[in-house]
Amino acid sequence: MGKLEALTKQLISIPSPYPNEMKLANFIKTFFKQKGYKVFEQKVEDNRSNIIVEKGSGKKTILLYSHLDTVGIVDGWKTNPLRPVVIGDKLFGLGSYDMKGGMAVNINTFLEHEAKNIKLRLLFCIDEENISKGGYVFANSSFMKDVDCVLSPEPAFAHGVNGIVTGRIGRAVIQVKLTYPSQHFYFYNPQNDINIVSALVIQKLKQIYKKNGDAKEFAFVRSLQSQSVGMSTPQEVFIELDTSVLPPKTNKDMLASVTQIISKITQAHNVKYEVNFKKRETPFLSGYKLSENNKYLKQLSQSIISVTGKKAVPYFRSSVADENIFGALGKTVLGIGPEGDSAHGANEWVSVSLLTRLQDIYLNFLSHL
Ligand SMILES: [Zn+2]
Repeated sequence: MGKLEALTKQLISIPSPYPNEMKLANFIKTFFKQKGYKVFEQKVEDNRSNIIVEKGSGKKTILLYSHLDTVGIVDGWKTNPLRPVVIGDKLFGLGSYDMKGGMAVNINTFLEHEAKNIKLRLLFCIDEENISKGGYVFANSSFMKDVDCVLSPEPAFAHGVNGIVTGRIGRAVIQVKLTYPSQHFYFYNPQNDINIVSALVIQKLKQIYKKNGDAKEFAFVRSLQSQSVGMSTPQEVFIELDTSVLPPKTNKDMLASVTQIISKITQAHNVKYEVNFKKRETPFLSGYKLSENNKYLKQLSQSIISVTGKKAVPYFRSSVADENIFGALGKTVLGIGPEGDSAHGANEWVSVSLLTRLQDIYLNFLSHL
C-alpha cells in the first residue's frame, strides 16, 4: 500500500462530520507536532478549531487548503463508510473524495517538498460543509495576510486532475415579504391578491437566468408560504429565494435586480414589499474569477502538462466553497482535486492512482516557484 493510500484511509477512519471535527483536528495536531513542525490551533468556537502547520521561509507564502469536516452518513452505503476499502483503483469511504484524499495529498506534499525559497502553510479548516465558520475565522486572521496563492484539492467534478477551478459564483439566500392589509372574505379582489402578485414575481424571476458554459446566474424559490385566517383574505406571503450570481457582479447586485422586479410588480397592485438577505451567522459567499494571465495559474498549467502530458483545463464552477472567501479577498485560488464520485452521497470513492498524480503535480508546481 502506498503512503497516500494509507494516509487517506487513516483520515477516513477518524470520523469528522461537522460540527464534530475535533478528533481529526487533534490527530493532525499530534501528527505534525511529533514530526517537529510549527503547529497552531486556531479556535473557532468551543471544541472546534482550525489547524495550521508551517514550514520554510521566503517571500512567497503558499497555502495548501483542506477542510476537516465531512457531511453525515447517508443511506445506501454498501461498505462501512468509516472502514475504508479499496476495490480496483477506487478507495471507498466517507470523505474519501470530499476531501480526505486531497487532504492526504496536501500533507504528503508538505512533508516531501523541501521549502527552500517559499513559506508553505497547511490549513485544516472546520465547518466547510455548513456555513464556513472556519474559513471566515482563518481569512480574518494574520495567517491569511501574507498568502500569495491558495491550492485546494476539493473534488474535481470535471476534467479530472487536468481541471483547474479558476472562479466561482456568489451565492445568497434572499427573503421577500409581500403584504396587503387583510380584508373580509367578501371584499376579495384578484387585483390585490398577494398570491397572484407573488406568482407574477416568480414568473418574472426567469429573466434573471443566464448561462454561459459552466457559469450560471439565477434566482429560484426555496420556500413559499402564505395563509389566510378564518373568513379573511391573505395578508402576507413569504418567499425565500436561492440565488447564484456571476462575478464581477456581487450578491448585492443580485439583491438589487430582485428588488427591482418586485418593486415594479407590487407597485401596480398596491402591494407592499420587503426584500433582504436572509440572516445567518457568517456572510453569504461572494464570487471570484482569476485573470487568465495569473502567473500561478500559468505555472500550474505547465506542471499539469509536465506530469500528465495533457493540457490543463481552467474552468469556472457554478458552486460555492471556502475558496470563495479567499478568492473574494483578491487572493489567487487554484482548485485542482482528485477524481472520484458520489461526494455527499453513498459509496463515495476517490481514485488512488490519481491521488499520486495530483501529488506529483503539486510537487512539480511548488518546485517551480
Ligand atoms: Zn469539500
